[in-house]
Amino acid sequence: MPYKNPEDRKACVIRYNKSEKGKATAKRYRKSEKGKEAQRKYEKNNPEKKSAHYYARKIARMICSITECEEIGEKHHPDYSKPLEIVSLCRQHHAEVHNNG
Ligand SMILES: [Zn+2]
Ligand SMILES: [Zn+2]
Repeated sequence: MPYKNPEDRKACVIRYNKSEKGKATAKRYRKSEKGKEAQRKYEKNNPEKKSAHYYARKIARMICSITECEEIGEKHHPDYSKPLEIVSLCRQHHAEVHNNG
């Protein structure tokens, strides 16, 4: 055991993963058959994780924020002085919001 405690090892791995060499290694691994197989296995064993991940990243923040509307939204800024405040509105509701004010 070359490391004093598991936290040290974790920090070391995180540092390595963030380095150029670590990124290249991870990329190579993902492209390799072994890496693809590991990914497939992970998705097979964790289907709910895949969908949760998928929804969180691709859908949840994109769906129209009008209740009961489930169209994929566009980014709308309710207040242009607050560029980080973004709501999702589908094409139709987005147009309505702009037409009303
Ligand atoms: Zn807008
Ligand atoms: Zn909508």
